[in-house]
Formats: sequence, C-alpha cells, structure tokens
Amino acid sequence: MLETIAFIGLGNMGGPMAANLVKAGYRVRGFDLSEPARKAATDNGITLCESAAQAVDGASIVITMLPAGHHVLSVWSELIGVVDQGTLLIDCSTIDVDSARKCHALADGAGCLSLDAPVSGGTAGASAGTLTFMVGGEAADALQRGRPILEAMGRRVVHCGSAGAGQAAKICNNMVLGITMAGVCEAFVLGEKLGLSHQALFDVASTSSGQCWAISTNCPVPGPVPTSPANRDYKPGFAAALMLKDMRLSQDAAKATGAATALGAHATALYELFDQLGHGGEDFSSIINYIRDKTT
Ligand code: NAD
Repeated sequence: MLETIAFIGLGNMGGPMAANLVKAGYRVRGFDLSEPARKAATDNGITLCESAAQAVDGASIVITMLPAGHHVLSVWSELIGVVDQGTLLIDCSTIDVDSARKCHALADGAGCLSLDAPVSGGTAGASAGTLTFMVGGEAADALQRGRPILEAMGRRVVHCGSAGAGQAAKICNNMVLGITMAGVCEAFVLGEKLGLSHQALFDVASTSSGQCWAISTNCPVPGPVPTSPANRDYKPGFAAALMLKDMRLSQDAAKATGAATALGAHATALYELFDQLGHGGEDFSSIINYIRDKTT
C-alpha cells in the first residue's frame, strides 16, 4: 500500500499536482480555503478535509503549495505540533529563502524531515505531470524518501543543495527569465523601428547567440512560435503578476545578501509599472506592448 499524503493548497498548481498523486495510486487527503479549489479536488479523487490539521491525520508525507512565505510558515507552524515524528514535509510553493529555511528549522526541531521543492513548468506542466522540481534539503534521507512522490508529479528532480537551495535556484532562474524577456522585447521593438521583420529577427536570434527561452518558446510577437501566448492575445502562460512576485523575491534576496543586481532591479521596476497599469493577468511577454508604447 502506498503512503497517505496530505496536500495543503489545491489551487491552479496544487490541484492538478494532487490529482496526479491520486492517479499514481497514493491516498491524498487535501485542504484548501477556497470553495472552487475544494470542489475540483473532490472531483479528482482527493479526500477533502475541514482543516490542514485534519488533512495530516494518518499521513506520512505533507505537501504545501501556497501563495507566499507567510502562508507556508503559518501552515507549517500549525502542523508541526500535530504530525508524527519522522513525517516528511515538502513545500513546493515559490517563497523567499529565509522563510524556507525557517520551515526546515521547524521540521528539524520536531524530528521531521523536510524539503523545499519549488517547481518550473506552470499549470500545463502541473496537469501533464512534467514539472521540474528544484530541491533543497538533505539528499540522503529526505530526498531519497521524497523522490518517488516528486517523480509522480514531474519529469525532473534536481537536487540544488541544503535547506533553501531549491528556492534560491528558482529565484535566480526566474530573475534571468524576467530580464531576458524584457531584453528580447526591446530587441523586437528596435527591430520594428529598423524595418526588420519579426520572422527575420526570430530566425537569426533563435539560432545564434541571442537564443533563449524568451525567444525560442515564449516569443513575445505573434507568428514565429505558434504556441507562444502572443498568438492568443497574451492569455497566460505565465502571468505578469507572478513574474513580478518572483522578481520582487529576487530583489529582496539581493538586498539581504548585498548582491549587485542592477538589471534585475530595472526589470522589476518595469513589471511593477506594467502591473499597476492593469496588465498583471496577461502573459508576462505582453510587456512588449508597454515597451512599444513608450517608443517614440
Ligand atoms: P493559487 O492562488 O491558484 O493557489 C494557492 C491556493 O492556496 C489557493 O487555492 C488558496 O485558497 C490556497 N490557500 C491559501 N492559504 C491557505 C491556507 N492557509 N490553507 C489552505 N489553503 C490555502 O496559486 P498557484 O498558481 O497554484 O501557485 C501556488 C504557488 O506556486 C505560488 O507560490 C506560485 O508562485 C507558485 N508557482 C506558480 C506557477 C503558475 O504558473 N501558476 C508556476 C510555478 C510556481
């Protein structure tokens, strides 16, 4: 018999991830505050509970997939007094490194195992079970035990180091993404000014030194990459508001550590303005429209 898993946070990501655990044969007990998330979870075979504390009853693994660090710390603080010693707690949310390390310390103090395991791959990857997990925590005990569970929800599991290293990798990766997308958008707008077609710039940059995910997969202009959000009025994809959240995490981390991230700061300010103008729900590549509008 496979283990029983408690899954707290059954939203856009957590819902399909928990559903994939059910498909893999695990018994999943879930909790979420939102009624639509609770309804979808029941439809997907998750045993719905009235509280997080009730969900962990009889579970040897606990997974959280929540909006931000304070939500995760609050839920872990509540659960740590309730779970059995030896329980493995895994947080898959994208949160700040400091909160992640506090969560590990809470688990450690209660004789539990813990992993920070944020994901890349978005809601499509969560549904298809093709997520990449970036993992921080002990490799020998916690990851060995958690690996089959992560593999039931994803395609790649990368061990990044000790407590908080998964979140550190996620934050650094997404800062690269935020900066490169802004740079790619500037290049397409400059190309337009120079009379260069989108296709010509794509054909060159996607096969030469300008190559990156922001061009090859999520190209911000319609045409060259038929599956990119630009071809469907910038319906996400990866919403600009989530990009902004991750950019802010990078800037908080830069301040805390003294790292020089001038480009990261500039890109964060761009996404902030874009969000304030009401575009947070669009794919982040639609920032090209803001850059084009600013062009004289
Ligand atoms: P979401 O808002 O759809 O889901 C979060 C869920 O947590 C909601 O259903 C909410 O009701 C629930 N919740 C909040 N506080 C709770 C509590 N105390 N107890 C129980 N449930 C609670 O968000 P999402 O898109 O699923 O994202 C979750 C995390 O994954 C975030 O940290 C996000 O940054 C990260 N992430 C999202 C994506 C994406 O494409 N959506 C991609 C990678 C990572």
